[in-house]
Amino acid sequence: LTPVPSDIEISRAQTPKPVDQLAEEIGLLPEELEAYGRSKAKVRLSLLDRLHAQPDGKYVLVAGITPTPLGEGKSTVTIGLVQALSAHLKLNSFACLRQPSQGPTFGVKGGAAGGGYAQVIPMEEFNLHLTGDIHAITAANNLVAAAIDARMLHEATQSDKALFSRLVPSVNGVRRFSPIQISRLNRLGINKTDPASLTPEEISTFVRLDLDPSKITWQRVLDTNDRFLRKITVGQASTEKGQIREVFVCISEVKALTESGALAVLMKDAIKPTLMQTLEGTPVFVHAGPFANIAHGNSSVLADKLALKLVGRDGFVVTEAGFGADIGMEKFFNIKCRASGLRPNVVVLVATVRALKMHGGGPNVSAGAPLPREYIDENLSLVAGGCHSNLRKQIQIAHLFGVPVVVALNVFRTDTQAEIDLVCQLAKECGASDAVPCHHWAQGGRGSLELAQAVNEAASRPSNFQFLYNKEMPIVEKIRTIAKKVYGADDIKLSPEAEAKIDYYSQQGYGSLPICMAKTHLSLSHMPDKKGAPTGFVLPIRDVRASIGAGFVYPLVGTMSTMPGLPTRPCFYDIDLDPVTEEITGLF
Ligand code: ADP
Repeated sequence: LTPVPSDIEISRAQTPKPVDQLAEEIGLLPEELEAYGRSKAKVRLSLLDRLHAQPDGKYVLVAGITPTPLGEGKSTVTIGLVQALSAHLKLNSFACLRQPSQGPTFGVKGGAAGGGYAQVIPMEEFNLHLTGDIHAITAANNLVAAAIDARMLHEATQSDKALFSRLVPSVNGVRRFSPIQISRLNRLGINKTDPASLTPEEISTFVRLDLDPSKITWQRVLDTNDRFLRKITVGQASTEKGQIREVFVCISEVKALTESGALAVLMKDAIKPTLMQTLEGTPVFVHAGPFANIAHGNSSVLADKLALKLVGRDGFVVTEAGFGADIGMEKFFNIKCRASGLRPNVVVLVATVRALKMHGGGPNVSAGAPLPREYIDENLSLVAGGCHSNLRKQIQIAHLFGVPVVVALNVFRTDTQAEIDLVCQLAKECGASDAVPCHHWAQGGRGSLELAQAVNEAASRPSNFQFLYNKEMPIVEKIRTIAKKVYGADDIKLSPEAEAKIDYYSQQGYGSLPICMAKTHLSLSHMPDKKGAPTGFVLPIRDVRASIGAGFVYPLVGTMSTMPGLPTRPCFYDIDLDPVTEEITGLF
């Protein structure tokens, strides 16, 4: 329709096919499906065993140039591309997406189900609780945080003997170690299985973790942009007996499981991807939801692996990495591909005329404010400036990993033909294998046919994938490599705190983990207002933390915070529920 209706109107106008019908179409067995309502289902991981001998399909990553705060359409391009591949080129295809966080949904950006005629449906379910995975992750994460503080309190206030009798209680007069306690004793070098045989020194060693509060990196998490939790004090009630400490809370991110059975129980369903569909009825996996600026910004390895088997040799799996290629794509390659062993065939780099104009010197763009004139009228010199700076640099970054790049220009209503032609021409001059305009937002899959053909063609060529750094390099050298080669920095500058943490993690044996930079997504540098391709700067590393379970060390660049805030007028001002029809309004 013209004009294109709102995202929620389009989503609601299309009735999703029943999820068991979708599952049958893509080759799932009924017993591999756990339905959550009519239009979404969890998929059992036993599917991987059943299909293990099946060849993998082609693997496509959608990344972008440095975005404006409005987002440049990577999710819409991802969905438009699979719709075009499946419904129009008749090639099996799957989209693998992250589950949106409530932070952006209720904060600045709104939902992440795509937009226009390229959406995952039902978009309300996708954007809100879906199958509850984020709650499960939050619960598991916060159980560990609560356990750490409680244990420190109990150790501070009880004798060795009292701790021992509570940790190893007698049942019918007999004390017995649990299997987890026996493995802890073994790790401590105490090879005894009878609790009565422990010496007082061994009891003390066994019952005390002696955690140093200043070294605790495990934080509480919450999936809400609650800036007042960035730094808080816990333990202020008299029952906590003076065990007060400052902590901070992060917006939830996926943490890996520890050995604990209780955490596995909380996460038992969250470990399975959720099957949904696009507006054109093609399959989508939704799984995991980390941010790209403070975490690795990619959906799960499990979903990609399942989808690659399901589409078969000639099919395509298209997945999205958050924010610009300097952020989500770098982490996709260096962290996700390293962990999964999967190798991408093509990078689709999404650009928009509006973001290119901003990089070419146009005025600032902000959410909620009308777009300045330069963004509505034709302006070829601003477009060219953006292509020669940010677009060129982001193409070069993808080439550092040896993967061919197709530029997808996500066309907006205000873009002129001369602007569209210029971007496609300059993108090819900057090294892209191909560059095409995409009209999926206004036309659905048929508007992305040219992109689907370009991706199919690029995927048939050899890709010479390589990592940017060897993970055995010292942590500092890995950070420096990313800063110089990807961001264009002259060097890095570590705060004394960052230096001390790097030494500490290296001594603890975590020096060979890959790096997950926490950096603003609004610039290639650490300065959000420096657009284009900034040079002549030194990247400041304020602090370094480690997510050992997830498998990376994460340096905090500049003033980057791990808990976003809400703006003066957040999106939730417009979100409401009709009490009679139960329809949600205001999610765009
Ligand atoms: P990203 O994934 O890069 O953050 P999205 O795909 O979520 O971006 O798009 C951001 C917003 O812009 C969405 O609300 C989407 O509907 C809108 N949008 C995307 N492409 C277009 C387009 N071509 N025309 C108009 N609006 C668009």
